[in-house]
Amino acid sequence: MPVTMSPDEASALNARFIGADPAAVLAWATGRFMPRLAATSSFQTQSVPLLHLISQVCPQVPVLFLDTGYHFPETLAFRDELIARFGLTVQIVRPDPQQAAARTESLYRRDPDRCCYVHKVLPMQRALRDLDAWISGIRRDQTPQRAGAQVVEPLPQGGVKINPLAGWTREDVWRYSHHHDLPAHPLLAQGYLSVGCAPCTVPAFGGDERAGRWAGTGKTECGLHTDALHQPPSPDQEHKT
Ligand code: SF4
Repeated sequence: MPVTMSPDEASALNARFIGADPAAVLAWATGRFMPRLAATSSFQTQSVPLLHLISQVCPQVPVLFLDTGYHFPETLAFRDELIARFGLTVQIVRPDPQQAAARTESLYRRDPDRCCYVHKVLPMQRALRDLDAWISGIRRDQTPQRAGAQVVEPLPQGGVKINPLAGWTREDVWRYSHHHDLPAHPLLAQGYLSVGCAPCTVPAFGGDERAGRWAGTGKTECGLHTDALHQPPSPDQEHKT
């Protein structure tokens, strides 16, 4: 059973962390929740500052990487480059093998919400079962859906989500990366401002940071940062593709 945090405690923590250095948030989270704490990362350009901060502040915190089976080869290579450079402990989280074997290549076209549910939400739900808290790199300025993100968010089923970069802007990411001479995802040079699964990501030159994700479909989130992550799956949902 994950730890629970009261709304009052979360409010007090969020007041304390207004404008705080993300390193201070990571240090607090590590002291409070380790060893039942992990971070998640998609290993794209915007992920690099948080991964660098973890390597500096709390390298013992494992980083979960969701391997949907649809990543660009450049993402997998970049992940491995960052693991080696930062000395990260990365755990690969994969979909249920039965579901992965049964998937059809058209699922992401036919029903992208269902595809994200099978390849991202369900595996993450399983990974989070053994944790009290998880660290995410989302920021309020990324999308309207993320505008209300708090640094400390108690979760409906118990457990706590921690967003150390919630108050950062896109410029803060670039400033930090430049200051620390951090690498960028190799596809950034081709206009991929945000990189997800290959079938659902296109370049977005000069546009909104996440405009290239599920472009033209109206879909903006995979479900990891919405209520979908906290809905208990029904038995038929677990095994239907
Ligand atoms: S991003 Fe696309 S390919 Fe990846 S899980 Fe979601 S719908 Fe499927």
